[in-house]
Amino acid sequence: MPSISVFGAQWGDEGKGKLIDLLSRDADYVVRYQGGANAGHTVVVEGEKYILHLIPSGILHPSKVNIIGNGVALDPFKFLDEVAGLTQRGIHVDGQNLRVSANAHVIFEHHRRLDQLSERWRGQGRIGTTGRGIGPCYADKAARTGLRVCDLLEPDHCRTRLGAALAEKNAMIEQVHGAEPLDLDAELDRYVAVGQRIAPFVADTGAEVRAAYRAKKRILFEGAQGAMLDIDAGTYPFVTSSNTGATGISAGAAFPPRWIERAIGIAKAYTTRVGEGPFPTELHDEVGARIREQGHEYGSTTGRPRRCGWFDAVAVRFALELSGADGWIVTNLDVLSGFKEISAAVAYKIKGRSVRDWPAATADIGEIEPVWAQHPGWSEDITGVRRFEDLPQNARNYVEWLEREVGAPIVMLSVGPARDQVISRGL
Ligand code: GDP
Repeated sequence: MPSISVFGAQWGDEGKGKLIDLLSRDADYVVRYQGGANAGHTVVVEGEKYILHLIPSGILHPSKVNIIGNGVALDPFKFLDEVAGLTQRGIHVDGQNLRVSANAHVIFEHHRRLDQLSERWRGQGRIGTTGRGIGPCYADKAARTGLRVCDLLEPDHCRTRLGAALAEKNAMIEQVHGAEPLDLDAELDRYVAVGQRIAPFVADTGAEVRAAYRAKKRILFEGAQGAMLDIDAGTYPFVTSSNTGATGISAGAAFPPRWIERAIGIAKAYTTRVGEGPFPTELHDEVGARIREQGHEYGSTTGRPRRCGWFDAVAVRFALELSGADGWIVTNLDVLSGFKEISAAVAYKIKGRSVRDWPAATADIGEIEPVWAQHPGWSEDITGVRRFEDLPQNARNYVEWLEREVGAPIVMLSVGPARDQVISRGL
């Protein structure tokens, strides 16, 4: 395995956790480069279920170096909680196998507070954020008023910078939102103290990852959320605040784009979405509810029921092309067992016109009518199948159809939550 990007090709929750965990067995470095603790990767190892929000899944394997790159929005308290949780369960975590970029931006309490207050203010126009302060943290990064991990490490400097930032945020909390302001001194003490606690993990991670590449180490870049939630290419404004595909790696991990040697997208055999925003193949009927129940489609971080619908070849085609994917992985194929008929969108009808490409304007996305293709389903339980040729004929036909329609090879199929429930097709 050379340097490889593994990313979600839909609206997140594609089952990346399990696949990244599987692929990270062959990696020396596992790198997160965007997002925050809103990502909830679920990994099942030897019957034990782990939910990782911020820490790369390579942590579950000894002798991997796990990196939280500069593009990640880091909540230091959440980070330490996750470290403590893993340690309690017997997973070895220290500053040697887990490294945090000194340049990562810090999520503060005022970011969380403002995230929730602004969402309330937006009312019907709400984005459906997870309220963890990630968006406001990235906003401050772009406004050049944020603080980075390196700023937390110097107590005096931290007090000055954070004091100035908080004075303004408090004015907003109080005067715009009419809410209780934060206690300035208490906040300064809390963050100066937490800075000292995360210090053993802090490093120049960009330099480390580049040196690892030159030393021919195997590097896996783990994407969080999905391509359709990308801040630039996704369904703006109903997106996350970072670049989610392979495109985010260079900026978020300080790694040259030409050194990314392989890119693999991950998509479910159907589609889900959490929160608000366009979702062309969404099903509001009992079929959608059945997908939700069979697939246990409830958020691993928030517990929110996910919106469910059929596979969308237009969106996945677009997502894979954006990251220059060499291939893709289909997950949750087992969830479709028992459906008499399976549909998938091959194209869209927008204002009477048929299009095969994802439309750029969100206004048009609201007008989409999917053009459906129907496939006969299968009734067999496929969770025990390990070879493609052992799948029911209709399941094979569906997979081959997906491959043709999306136009990129399917290199693996996932047929259950456990790590060994996969069918390899050349990966
Ligand atoms: P991520 O954010 O993309 O990592 O997705 P999640 O962590 O929300 O994973 C989705 C859920 O599906 C988890 O509970 C996984 O254990 C489970 N899962 C992963 N792959 C499969 C699969 O192929 N079939 C089934 N039935 N469940 C899966």
